[in-house]
Amino acid sequence: MPARTTSTHVTLADVFGYPSFRPHQAEIIDWVADGNDAFVLMPTGGGKSLCFQIPALHRPGTAIVVSPLISLMKDQVDALCANGVAAAVLNSSLSPEDSSAVLDRLRAGQLDLLYVSPERLVMDGFLQMLSRLEIALFAIDEAHCVSQWGHDFRPEYVQLGCLRERFPAIPIVALTATADEQTRIDVLRQLGLSGARMFVTGFDRPNIRYAAEYKTKPAAQLMEFLKQHDGESGIVYALSRKRVADVADKLRDAGVRAAAYHAGMGAVARARVQDAFMGDRLDVVVATVAFGMGIDKPDVRFVVHYDMPKSIEGYYQETGRAGRDGLPADALMLWSMQDVMTSKGFIDAVASDEQRRIETHKLNAMVDFAEALSCRRRALLGYFGEELAGDCGNCDVCSAPPETYDATIDAQKALSAVYRLSERFGLGYVVDVLRGSENQRILGNGHDSLSVYGIGGEYSKDEWSAVFRQLIHRGYLRVDVSEYSTLKLTPTAAAVLRGEEDVRLARPLAPRPKAEKVPKSTKRAKSLALETDEQADLFERLRELRREIAAEKAVPAYVVFADAALADMARRQPTDRDEFLQVSGVGKAKLEQYGEVFLQAIRGRPEIKVVGEDV
Ligand code: ADP
Ligand code: ZN
Repeated sequence: MPARTTSTHVTLADVFGYPSFRPHQAEIIDWVADGNDAFVLMPTGGGKSLCFQIPALHRPGTAIVVSPLISLMKDQVDALCANGVAAAVLNSSLSPEDSSAVLDRLRAGQLDLLYVSPERLVMDGFLQMLSRLEIALFAIDEAHCVSQWGHDFRPEYVQLGCLRERFPAIPIVALTATADEQTRIDVLRQLGLSGARMFVTGFDRPNIRYAAEYKTKPAAQLMEFLKQHDGESGIVYALSRKRVADVADKLRDAGVRAAAYHAGMGAVARARVQDAFMGDRLDVVVATVAFGMGIDKPDVRFVVHYDMPKSIEGYYQETGRAGRDGLPADALMLWSMQDVMTSKGFIDAVASDEQRRIETHKLNAMVDFAEALSCRRRALLGYFGEELAGDCGNCDVCSAPPETYDATIDAQKALSAVYRLSERFGLGYVVDVLRGSENQRILGNGHDSLSVYGIGGEYSKDEWSAVFRQLIHRGYLRVDVSEYSTLKLTPTAAAVLRGEEDVRLARPLAPRPKAEKVPKSTKRAKSLALETDEQADLFERLRELRREIAAEKAVPAYVVFADAALADMARRQPTDRDEFLQVSGVGKAKLEQYGEVFLQAIRGRPEIKVVGEDV
């Protein structure tokens, strides 16, 4: 397609309906539109897509976008078409007729953007055809897939290395949200992008609130959390298929619009769940980590980990699926010592020493994060080598810093018990001895005659296990997984036992200030910056209208309008077309398509539909 001659700012407003660029977008867009290579590392939700979509419109010819997942391509293309952009998909999901129709449009120069799968792109005939056409740029989305260092390696991506050589004059932009230093270097090398300018924006997702809770009654903890998110979109991750199914059942029994999603389900059943979620006909998906790879729903308001993830990378990526639209979102992780043990068990089964070492390191970092006694965001970003200037004020630790106390005596009791039990028992047993349990095994072993028997009656089991966890975490104790998870003293324990070292711990399970239950409309109103009840009600009505339209058109709800756009409508309450165009997220195409019906809903009149009369 011919290049636009207006400024990129005008395109941003006319086509995408946004008043201003996000940080770095303008710079990247100008650089690529000028014909240069770029490597873009931006967190999820940072707004990477515009970094190639706008240059695509400002350069003559068709932009070729490589994306690893068919469902993602389709959603992006739907969203572009809804904004009046000439975009299409070419991949194995198309019928031969549809494919050849797309190819006809491509050859006729009628497309601004073409999304293709990597295997399709590198077919020799296809590359030859492209070399005869005018190409605006190549965009390689999820570029970390090219690297074996990354966690999503895709062999098809490796062949993309040929693009730089075959199309020396066409700009290439590679984009990703997850690249550590090693992966980054590898991506550049594999793609031959040695001259590319790097745009690295950091990992922080300031709109996500991080929280972690020790599992005591996980189902009840989850329900309590969900009360705060009634009617919102969210994902609950669990580690096993069975757990996924159980949790989904429980939620449904409690009246939550929830469904399970895991690899054991058929493709059709999975697609149905995904479609319902995208169409806002389903609020909560309970899933194994596989879910989310293929979805790009900007208004996911929360992500819950029902089990502790195995690494910070995984945790970051999964929580990153919340709040892509930049509006407030919640990430809650439930975890337990049992989770840690389960992961340790998996790691111990790994054959290679090196691999075991790496995974142990990753797991330890995850536990550190779970146990964090200071700002959780700092801990998270610190893992990625990024430093935050101050505490974030938007995590559970910042809002309710844990109370610490002199735990020297508790630690001495705990370590002595391990010692007196000859380091031959697991956590549960040691706690029972401390609490003076009359359990048969203890009596049978004669452990009721030990000096430590019953010296810890002041704490509950949960409280003691919190003390033990912290002692393990601080390195005074270790768990021998190879020997039935028995507790062992480490050399540092001796100083505590001899009274030469004091120990400060977080008060075990100090009751967290309970989140006040806020009515749904106020809660949402607050997070969307809606000022009055009237605006909040209007937002709900617009959301309902969006749901109906999305269902009718069989597109994801956000393709019609994102939450942010609906919230802006509710705030501004436009009364005519000009005012409607001022709403963030409303470009010219959406004005034409939806202006009338949304303006009518905002005027709020046809509550009673009068048939045959123009209301
Ligand atoms: P990423 O690919 O980096 O995860 P997206 O490109 O999908 O992020 O953008 C995330 C969300 O932010 C989308 O809903 C997108 O429409 C929105 N967005 C992107 N740029 C802007 C902007 N300049 N102003 C407002 N919203 C934007
Ligand atoms: Zn914080």
